[in-house]
Amino acid sequence: MKKQNTIVKTQKNTPKIGPKVGFVSLGCSKALVDSERILTQLKVEGYDIAPSYDGADVVIVNTCGFLDSAREESLDAIGEALNENGKVIVTGCLGAEPDVIKARHPNVFAITGPHQYESVVSAVHKAVPPQHDPYLDLVPKQGIKLTPRHYAYLKISEGCNNRCSFCIIPKLRGDLVSRPLGEVMAEAETLVQSGVKELLVISQDTSAYGIDVKYAESKWRDKTYRSKFYDLCQALGELGVWTRLHYVYPYPHVDQVIPMMAQGKILPYLDIPFQHASPNVLRAMKRPANQEKTAERIQNWRGICPDLTVRSTFIVGFPGETDQDFEFLLQWLDQAQLDRVGCFKYENVEHAASRALENHVPEEVKEERWHRFMQKQQEISAKRLQEKIGQTIDVIVDESGPNGIVARSKSDAPDVDGKVYVTGKKRPLPGHILKVKVTGADEYDLTAEML
Ligand code: SF4
Repeated sequence: MKKQNTIVKTQKNTPKIGPKVGFVSLGCSKALVDSERILTQLKVEGYDIAPSYDGADVVIVNTCGFLDSAREESLDAIGEALNENGKVIVTGCLGAEPDVIKARHPNVFAITGPHQYESVVSAVHKAVPPQHDPYLDLVPKQGIKLTPRHYAYLKISEGCNNRCSFCIIPKLRGDLVSRPLGEVMAEAETLVQSGVKELLVISQDTSAYGIDVKYAESKWRDKTYRSKFYDLCQALGELGVWTRLHYVYPYPHVDQVIPMMAQGKILPYLDIPFQHASPNVLRAMKRPANQEKTAERIQNWRGICPDLTVRSTFIVGFPGETDQDFEFLLQWLDQAQLDRVGCFKYENVEHAASRALENHVPEEVKEERWHRFMQKQQEISAKRLQEKIGQTIDVIVDESGPNGIVARSKSDAPDVDGKVYVTGKKRPLPGHILKVKVTGADEYDLTAEML
Protein backbone atom coordinates (compact mmCIF):
# COMPACT_ATOMS: atom_id res chain seq x y z
CA MET A 1 0.00 0.00 0.00
CA LYS A 2 1.32 3.39 -0.92
CA LYS A 3 1.68 5.59 2.11
CA GLN A 4 1.41 9.36 1.93
CA ASN A 5 2.22 11.85 4.64
CA THR A 6 0.65 15.22 4.14
CA ILE A 7 1.02 18.39 6.13
CA VAL A 8 -1.77 20.61 4.94
CA LYS A 9 -0.65 24.16 4.24
CA THR A 10 -2.79 27.22 4.15
CA GLN A 11 -2.55 29.17 0.93
CA LYS A 12 -0.99 32.59 1.33
CA ASN A 13 -4.09 34.47 0.25
CA THR A 14 -6.55 32.55 2.49
CA PRO A 15 -8.36 35.18 4.55
CA LYS A 16 -7.84 34.74 8.30
CA ILE A 17 -11.42 34.69 9.47
CA GLY A 18 -11.68 32.02 12.11
CA PRO A 19 -9.88 29.89 14.67
CA LYS A 20 -6.97 27.92 13.23
CA VAL A 21 -6.66 24.17 13.02
CA GLY A 22 -3.39 22.38 12.27
CA PHE A 23 -3.66 19.13 10.37
CA VAL A 24 -1.29 16.19 9.96
CA SER A 25 -2.54 13.55 7.55
CA LEU A 26 -0.77 10.19 7.62
CA GLY A 27 -1.52 7.02 5.70
CA CYS A 28 -3.14 5.95 2.46
CA SER A 29 -5.31 7.78 -0.05
CA LYS A 30 -8.50 6.74 1.78
CA ALA A 31 -7.20 8.48 4.88
CA LEU A 32 -6.37 11.48 2.73
CA VAL A 33 -9.97 11.64 1.48
CA ASP A 34 -11.13 11.48 5.11
CA SER A 35 -8.80 14.39 5.87
CA GLU A 36 -10.25 16.33 2.95
CA ARG A 37 -13.78 15.75 4.25
CA ILE A 38 -12.87 16.95 7.73
CA LEU A 39 -11.07 19.99 6.33
CA THR A 40 -13.99 20.78 4.01
CA GLN A 41 -16.43 20.80 6.90
CA LEU A 42 -14.12 22.91 9.05
CA LYS A 43 -13.58 25.41 6.23
CA VAL A 44 -17.35 25.60 5.64
CA GLU A 45 -17.74 26.48 9.32
CA GLY A 46 -15.16 29.27 9.07
CA TYR A 47 -12.09 27.58 10.52
CA ASP A 48 -8.71 28.39 9.02
CA ILE A 49 -6.08 25.76 8.39
CA ALA A 50 -2.81 26.69 10.11
CA PRO A 51 0.42 26.09 8.21
CA SER A 52 2.43 25.28 11.36
CA TYR A 53 1.91 23.84 14.82
CA ASP A 54 2.55 27.04 16.71
CA GLY A 55 -0.01 29.03 14.71
CA ALA A 56 -2.76 26.48 15.41
CA ASP A 57 -5.38 26.57 18.18
CA VAL A 58 -5.69 22.79 17.96
CA VAL A 59 -4.01 20.08 15.87
CA ILE A 60 -5.74 17.07 14.30
CA VAL A 61 -3.56 14.03 13.59
CA ASN A 62 -5.18 11.62 11.12
CA THR A 63 -3.31 8.41 11.86
CA CYS A 64 -2.50 5.19 10.06
CA GLY A 65 -2.54 1.82 11.82
CA PHE A 66 -1.96 -0.52 8.93
CA LEU A 67 1.58 -1.65 9.69
CA ASP A 68 3.58 -1.60 12.91
CA SER A 69 5.90 0.96 11.36
CA ALA A 70 2.90 3.12 10.43
CA ARG A 71 1.52 2.81 13.98
CA GLU A 72 4.89 3.85 15.39
CA GLU A 73 5.04 6.77 12.98
CA SER A 74 1.52 7.81 13.98
CA LEU A 75 2.39 7.67 17.70
CA ASP A 76 5.51 9.75 17.02
CA ALA A 77 3.45 12.30 15.07
CA ILE A 78 0.99 12.59 17.98
CA GLY A 79 3.92 13.10 20.35
CA GLU A 80 5.43 15.77 18.12
CA ALA A 81 2.09 17.63 17.85
CA LEU A 82 1.66 17.45 21.65
CA ASN A 83 5.15 18.85 22.22
CA GLU A 84 4.77 21.60 19.66
CA ASN A 85 1.19 22.59 20.30
CA GLY A 86 -0.32 20.79 23.31
CA LYS A 87 -3.92 20.42 22.11
CA VAL A 88 -4.27 17.35 19.90
CA ILE A 89 -7.24 15.45 18.47
CA VAL A 90 -6.41 12.00 17.10
CA THR A 91 -8.48 10.36 14.39
CA GLY A 92 -8.04 7.71 11.69
CA CYS A 93 -7.17 4.01 11.84
CA LEU A 94 -5.11 4.11 15.02
CA GLY A 95 -8.01 5.97 16.65
CA ALA A 96 -9.76 2.58 16.78
CA GLU A 97 -7.25 1.65 19.51
CA PRO A 98 -7.58 4.44 22.06
CA ASP A 99 -5.82 2.39 24.78
CA VAL A 100 -2.65 2.19 22.70
CA ILE A 101 -2.68 5.96 22.17
CA LYS A 102 -3.54 6.77 25.80
CA ALA A 103 -0.78 4.48 27.10
CA ARG A 104 1.84 6.53 25.21
CA HIS A 105 0.11 9.94 25.19
CA PRO A 106 -2.34 10.31 28.10
CA ASN A 107 -2.85 14.03 27.40
CA VAL A 108 -4.45 13.92 23.97
CA PHE A 109 -7.56 16.09 23.89
CA ALA A 110 -9.83 13.59 22.08
CA ILE A 111 -9.64 10.34 20.13
CA THR A 112 -12.04 9.28 17.38
CA GLY A 113 -11.90 6.28 15.06
CA PRO A 114 -11.67 6.02 11.26
CA HIS A 115 -14.42 7.67 9.15
CA GLN A 116 -15.89 9.45 12.19
CA TYR A 117 -15.87 12.89 10.57
CA GLU A 118 -18.75 14.23 12.64
CA SER A 119 -17.02 13.21 15.91
CA VAL A 120 -13.77 14.89 14.82
CA VAL A 121 -15.59 18.10 13.99
CA SER A 122 -17.47 17.96 17.33
CA ALA A 123 -14.14 17.55 19.12
CA VAL A 124 -12.80 20.63 17.28
CA HIS A 125 -15.90 22.56 18.40
CA LYS A 126 -15.11 21.60 22.00
CA ALA A 127 -11.42 22.46 21.69
CA VAL A 128 -11.96 25.78 19.95
CA PRO A 129 -15.56 26.85 19.29
CA PRO A 130 -16.39 28.16 15.80
CA GLN A 131 -16.43 31.92 15.55
CA HIS A 132 -19.69 33.48 14.44
CA ASP A 133 -19.35 35.91 11.57
CA PRO A 134 -22.61 37.81 11.02
CA TYR A 135 -21.62 38.52 7.41
CA LEU A 136 -20.86 34.94 6.52
CA ASP A 137 -22.95 32.72 8.79
CA LEU A 138 -26.62 32.13 8.14
CA VAL A 139 -26.83 29.64 10.98
CA PRO A 140 -26.75 31.47 14.29
CA LYS A 141 -23.85 30.87 16.65
CA GLN A 142 -25.94 28.86 19.09
CA GLY A 143 -27.58 26.75 16.40
CA ILE A 144 -24.79 25.16 14.37
CA LYS A 145 -25.84 21.69 13.33
CA LEU A 146 -23.77 19.30 11.30
CA THR A 147 -25.81 17.82 8.51
CA PRO A 148 -25.33 14.18 7.56
CA ARG A 149 -22.61 13.59 5.01
CA HIS A 150 -24.91 13.29 2.00
CA TYR A 151 -26.51 16.73 2.06
CA ALA A 152 -25.27 20.22 2.80
CA TYR A 153 -26.58 23.75 2.98
CA LEU A 154 -25.07 26.20 0.53
CA LYS A 155 -25.37 29.79 1.68
CA ILE A 156 -25.29 32.23 -1.20
CA SER A 157 -25.84 35.53 0.60
CA GLU A 158 -26.46 37.12 3.95
CA GLY A 159 -28.84 39.87 5.02
CA CYS A 160 -31.90 41.21 3.23
CA ASN A 161 -32.95 44.37 1.38
CA ASN A 162 -36.65 43.85 2.14
CA ARG A 163 -38.39 45.31 5.14
CA CYS A 164 -41.26 42.96 5.94
CA SER A 165 -43.07 44.55 8.85
CA PHE A 166 -43.08 41.42 11.05
CA CYS A 167 -39.37 40.65 10.59
CA ILE A 168 -36.29 41.97 12.37
CA ILE A 169 -33.71 40.05 10.33
CA PRO A 170 -32.55 43.12 8.34
CA LYS A 171 -32.04 44.91 11.68
CA LEU A 172 -29.98 42.01 12.96
CA ARG A 173 -28.07 41.07 9.82
CA GLY A 174 -28.15 44.15 7.67
CA ASP A 175 -28.75 44.53 3.95
CA LEU A 176 -28.12 41.88 1.32
CA VAL A 177 -24.48 40.83 0.87
CA SER A 178 -24.13 38.29 -1.96
CA ARG A 179 -21.13 35.98 -2.29
CA PRO A 180 -19.46 36.00 -5.71
CA LEU A 181 -20.78 33.17 -7.87
CA GLY A 182 -17.29 31.72 -8.38
CA GLU A 183 -16.84 31.43 -4.62
CA VAL A 184 -20.26 29.82 -4.10
CA MET A 185 -19.59 27.33 -6.90
CA ALA A 186 -16.11 26.48 -5.60
CA GLU A 187 -17.68 25.59 -2.27
CA ALA A 188 -20.48 23.63 -3.96
CA GLU A 189 -17.98 21.69 -6.02
CA THR A 190 -15.85 20.87 -2.99
CA LEU A 191 -18.91 19.65 -1.14
CA VAL A 192 -19.87 17.41 -4.05
CA GLN A 193 -16.32 16.07 -4.27
CA SER A 194 -16.49 15.19 -0.58
CA GLY A 195 -19.61 13.06 -1.07
CA VAL A 196 -22.52 15.48 -0.82
CA LYS A 197 -25.42 14.32 -3.01
CA GLU A 198 -27.89 17.09 -2.29
CA LEU A 199 -27.24 20.83 -2.03
CA LEU A 200 -29.77 23.02 -0.27
CA VAL A 201 -29.43 26.61 -1.42
CA ILE A 202 -30.20 29.02 1.40
CA SER A 203 -30.22 32.77 2.01
CA GLN A 204 -32.81 35.25 3.25
CA ASP A 205 -34.00 36.02 -0.30
CA THR A 206 -32.55 33.60 -2.85
CA SER A 207 -34.09 35.15 -5.95
CA ALA A 208 -32.56 38.55 -5.05
CA TYR A 209 -29.08 37.00 -5.26
CA GLY A 210 -26.54 39.40 -6.75
CA ILE A 211 -28.66 42.57 -6.78
CA ASP A 212 -26.28 44.22 -4.29
CA VAL A 213 -23.19 43.50 -6.43
CA LYS A 214 -25.00 44.47 -9.66
CA TYR A 215 -24.77 40.84 -10.82
CA ALA A 216 -20.96 41.03 -10.88
CA GLU A 217 -19.34 38.47 -13.17
CA SER A 218 -17.02 35.76 -11.98
CA LYS A 219 -15.39 32.67 -13.44
CA TRP A 220 -16.16 29.09 -12.72
CA ARG A 221 -14.79 26.18 -14.76
CA ASP A 222 -13.45 28.63 -17.37
CA LYS A 223 -16.87 30.12 -18.04
CA THR A 224 -18.06 33.55 -17.02
CA TYR A 225 -21.24 33.72 -14.97
CA ARG A 226 -23.13 36.65 -13.51
CA SER A 227 -23.84 36.53 -9.78
CA LYS A 228 -27.50 36.16 -10.62
CA PHE A 229 -30.22 33.70 -9.66
CA TYR A 230 -30.56 32.30 -13.18
CA ASP A 231 -26.80 31.89 -13.74
CA LEU A 232 -26.38 30.32 -10.31
CA CYS A 233 -29.06 27.73 -11.12
CA GLN A 234 -27.38 27.03 -14.46
CA ALA A 235 -24.00 26.49 -12.82
CA LEU A 236 -25.43 24.35 -10.01
CA GLY A 237 -27.24 22.29 -12.63
CA GLU A 238 -23.80 21.30 -14.00
CA LEU A 239 -22.82 19.50 -10.79
CA GLY A 240 -25.04 16.45 -11.34
CA VAL A 241 -26.42 16.33 -7.78
CA TRP A 242 -29.80 17.23 -6.35
CA THR A 243 -30.05 21.01 -5.95
CA ARG A 244 -32.95 22.34 -3.90
CA LEU A 245 -33.88 26.02 -3.82
CA HIS A 246 -35.09 27.54 -0.56
CA TYR A 247 -36.44 31.01 0.27
CA VAL A 248 -37.30 31.99 -3.28
CA TYR A 249 -39.56 35.01 -3.70
CA PRO A 250 -41.70 34.89 -6.82
CA TYR A 251 -40.03 37.75 -8.74
CA PRO A 252 -40.76 37.52 -12.48
CA HIS A 253 -37.31 36.07 -13.26
CA VAL A 254 -38.12 32.94 -11.21
CA ASP A 255 -40.13 31.80 -14.28
CA GLN A 256 -36.82 31.31 -16.13
CA VAL A 257 -35.64 28.47 -13.89
CA ILE A 258 -38.80 26.35 -14.25
CA PRO A 259 -37.61 24.87 -17.61
CA MET A 260 -34.32 23.91 -15.89
CA MET A 261 -36.41 22.01 -13.35
CA ALA A 262 -38.34 20.30 -16.14
CA GLN A 263 -35.00 19.23 -17.68
CA GLY A 264 -33.85 17.72 -14.37
CA LYS A 265 -30.99 20.19 -13.87
CA ILE A 266 -32.42 21.59 -10.64
CA LEU A 267 -34.88 19.75 -8.37
CA PRO A 268 -38.49 20.56 -9.27
CA TYR A 269 -38.98 22.15 -5.86
CA LEU A 270 -39.58 25.74 -4.86
CA ASP A 271 -39.73 26.92 -1.27
CA ILE A 272 -41.58 30.22 -1.48
CA PRO A 273 -42.58 31.80 1.83
CA PHE A 274 -45.86 33.42 0.69
CA GLN A 275 -46.96 34.24 4.28
CA HIS A 276 -50.45 35.26 3.10
CA ALA A 277 -52.62 35.66 0.01
CA SER A 278 -54.94 38.55 0.82
CA PRO A 279 -53.64 41.73 -0.89
CA ASN A 280 -54.54 43.81 2.21
CA VAL A 281 -52.51 41.65 4.54
CA LEU A 282 -49.60 41.33 2.10
CA ARG A 283 -49.47 45.12 1.84
CA ALA A 284 -49.48 45.50 5.62
CA MET A 285 -46.74 42.87 5.79
CA LYS A 286 -44.73 44.80 3.14
CA ARG A 287 -43.94 41.53 1.39
CA PRO A 288 -41.59 41.49 -1.62
CA ALA A 289 -42.83 40.25 -5.03
CA ASN A 290 -46.38 40.61 -3.80
CA GLN A 291 -48.57 39.79 -6.81
CA GLU A 292 -52.25 39.17 -7.11
CA LYS A 293 -51.95 36.47 -9.78
CA THR A 294 -49.58 34.15 -7.95
CA ALA A 295 -51.94 31.15 -7.96
CA GLU A 296 -52.24 31.38 -11.77
CA ARG A 297 -48.50 31.60 -12.02
CA ILE A 298 -48.09 28.41 -10.03
CA GLN A 299 -50.50 26.70 -12.45
CA ASN A 300 -48.38 27.95 -15.39
CA TRP A 301 -45.22 26.63 -13.74
CA ARG A 302 -46.90 23.24 -13.30
CA GLY A 303 -47.82 23.33 -16.98
CA ILE A 304 -44.10 23.55 -17.81
CA CYS A 305 -42.90 21.26 -15.02
CA PRO A 306 -45.71 18.92 -13.92
CA ASP A 307 -43.64 17.41 -11.07
CA LEU A 308 -43.05 20.78 -9.42
CA THR A 309 -43.46 20.77 -5.64
CA VAL A 310 -44.26 24.12 -4.04
CA ARG A 311 -43.56 24.51 -0.37
CA SER A 312 -44.54 27.57 1.62
CA THR A 313 -45.10 29.09 5.03
CA PHE A 314 -47.92 31.35 6.17
CA ILE A 315 -48.76 33.59 9.09
CA VAL A 316 -52.33 33.74 10.38
CA GLY A 317 -53.66 36.39 12.75
CA PHE A 318 -51.48 39.22 11.38
CA PRO A 319 -52.61 42.62 12.74
CA GLY A 320 -55.59 43.82 10.73
CA GLU A 321 -56.38 40.38 9.23
CA THR A 322 -60.16 40.33 8.92
CA ASP A 323 -62.49 37.33 8.55
CA GLN A 324 -62.67 38.19 4.83
CA ASP A 325 -58.88 38.22 4.53
CA PHE A 326 -58.70 34.84 6.19
CA GLU A 327 -61.46 33.37 3.98
CA PHE A 328 -59.58 34.75 0.97
CA LEU A 329 -56.49 32.88 2.16
CA LEU A 330 -58.40 29.58 2.49
CA GLN A 331 -59.88 29.96 -0.99
CA TRP A 332 -56.46 30.80 -2.36
CA LEU A 333 -55.08 27.57 -0.84
CA ASP A 334 -57.80 25.65 -2.70
CA GLN A 335 -56.78 27.33 -5.91
CA ALA A 336 -52.99 27.11 -5.49
CA GLN A 337 -52.94 23.47 -4.29
CA LEU A 338 -49.57 23.80 -2.59
CA ASP A 339 -47.80 20.59 -1.73
CA ARG A 340 -46.04 21.41 1.53
CA VAL A 341 -47.11 24.12 3.93
CA GLY A 342 -46.16 25.36 7.38
CA CYS A 343 -48.29 27.85 9.32
CA PHE A 344 -47.47 30.11 12.25
CA LYS A 345 -49.67 32.24 14.47
CA TYR A 346 -48.53 35.88 14.34
CA GLU A 347 -46.14 36.76 17.15
CA ASN A 348 -45.64 40.32 18.26
CA VAL A 349 -41.84 40.28 18.01
CA GLU A 350 -40.02 43.02 19.89
CA HIS A 351 -38.72 45.82 17.61
CA ALA A 352 -40.83 44.59 14.64
CA ALA A 353 -42.67 47.38 12.79
CA SER A 354 -45.89 45.34 12.83
CA ARG A 355 -46.20 45.89 16.60
CA ALA A 356 -47.35 49.42 15.85
CA LEU A 357 -50.12 48.29 13.49
CA GLU A 358 -53.72 48.61 14.55
CA ASN A 359 -56.32 45.89 15.11
CA HIS A 360 -54.23 43.12 16.58
CA VAL A 361 -56.05 39.81 16.38
CA PRO A 362 -57.06 38.20 19.71
CA GLU A 363 -55.18 35.01 20.60
CA GLU A 364 -58.28 32.81 20.51
CA VAL A 365 -59.09 34.01 16.97
CA LYS A 366 -55.49 33.31 15.86
CA GLU A 367 -55.81 29.84 17.37
CA GLU A 368 -59.09 29.11 15.62
CA ARG A 369 -57.78 30.35 12.27
CA TRP A 370 -54.63 28.32 12.64
CA HIS A 371 -56.66 25.10 13.18
CA ARG A 372 -58.90 25.83 10.20
CA PHE A 373 -55.87 26.62 8.03
CA MET A 374 -54.08 23.41 9.04
CA GLN A 375 -57.16 21.30 8.43
CA LYS A 376 -57.63 22.77 4.96
CA GLN A 377 -53.99 22.28 4.04
CA GLN A 378 -53.88 18.74 5.41
CA GLU A 379 -56.75 17.81 3.10
CA ILE A 380 -54.93 19.33 0.11
CA SER A 381 -51.60 17.75 1.01
CA ALA A 382 -53.17 14.31 1.63
CA LYS A 383 -54.98 14.46 -1.73
CA ARG A 384 -51.81 15.45 -3.58
CA LEU A 385 -49.85 12.65 -1.91
CA GLN A 386 -52.60 10.10 -2.69
CA GLU A 387 -52.11 10.93 -6.38
CA LYS A 388 -48.55 9.60 -6.10
CA ILE A 389 -49.62 6.06 -5.18
CA GLY A 390 -48.53 3.70 -7.93
CA GLN A 391 -45.90 6.09 -9.31
CA THR A 392 -42.22 5.20 -9.60
CA ILE A 393 -40.09 7.92 -8.05
CA ASP A 394 -36.48 8.58 -7.04
CA VAL A 395 -35.69 8.86 -3.35
CA ILE A 396 -32.49 9.67 -1.47
CA VAL A 397 -31.71 7.45 1.53
CA ASP A 398 -31.37 9.25 4.87
CA GLU A 399 -31.28 6.26 7.22
CA SER A 400 -30.89 2.57 6.63
CA GLY A 401 -31.49 0.08 9.45
CA PRO A 402 -32.87 -3.34 10.34
CA ASN A 403 -36.45 -2.05 10.20
CA GLY A 404 -36.18 -0.53 6.74
CA ILE A 405 -35.13 2.65 5.02
CA VAL A 406 -36.10 6.22 5.71
CA ALA A 407 -35.72 8.29 2.56
CA ARG A 408 -36.92 11.51 0.94
CA SER A 409 -38.34 12.17 -2.50
CA LYS A 410 -37.51 15.19 -4.66
CA SER A 411 -40.53 16.83 -3.00
CA ASP A 412 -39.10 16.56 0.50
CA ALA A 413 -36.46 18.84 1.98
CA PRO A 414 -34.74 17.48 5.09
CA ASP A 415 -36.29 18.35 8.46
CA VAL A 416 -39.22 20.41 7.14
CA ASP A 417 -41.06 18.10 4.70
CA GLY A 418 -42.25 14.51 4.66
CA LYS A 419 -40.43 11.20 4.43
CA VAL A 420 -40.67 8.08 2.32
CA TYR A 421 -40.61 4.81 4.30
CA VAL A 422 -39.17 2.19 1.97
CA THR A 423 -39.37 -1.59 2.35
CA GLY A 424 -37.10 -3.99 0.50
CA LYS A 425 -34.33 -6.51 1.02
CA LYS A 426 -31.31 -4.28 0.38
CA ARG A 427 -29.90 -1.76 2.84
CA PRO A 428 -28.29 0.97 0.73
CA LEU A 429 -26.19 3.52 2.57
CA PRO A 430 -27.37 7.08 3.28
CA GLY A 431 -26.97 9.25 0.19
CA HIS A 432 -27.90 6.49 -2.28
CA ILE A 433 -30.58 7.41 -4.76
CA LEU A 434 -33.10 4.60 -5.35
CA LYS A 435 -36.07 3.98 -7.60
CA VAL A 436 -39.12 3.03 -5.56
CA LYS A 437 -42.79 2.40 -6.22
CA VAL A 438 -45.15 4.38 -4.00
CA THR A 439 -47.60 2.06 -2.17
CA GLY A 440 -49.30 4.37 0.35
CA ALA A 441 -49.68 7.93 1.62
CA ASP A 442 -50.99 9.93 4.58
CA GLU A 443 -51.10 13.72 5.08
CA TYR A 444 -47.30 14.11 5.07
CA ASP A 445 -45.43 10.88 4.30
CA LEU A 446 -45.30 8.11 1.72
CA THR A 447 -44.63 4.40 1.93
CA ALA A 448 -42.89 2.65 -0.97
CA GLU A 449 -41.27 -0.56 -2.17
CA MET A 450 -37.74 -0.70 -3.49
CA LEU A 451 -37.59 -1.70 -7.15
S1 SF4 B 1 -37.70 38.88 2.99
FE1 SF4 B 1 -38.86 39.81 4.66
S2 SF4 B 1 -39.15 38.10 6.08
FE2 SF4 B 1 -37.50 37.50 4.74
S3 SF4 B 1 -35.63 38.16 5.82
FE3 SF4 B 1 -36.21 39.80 4.39
S4 SF4 B 1 -37.39 41.19 5.65
FE4 SF4 B 1 -37.34 39.25 6.75
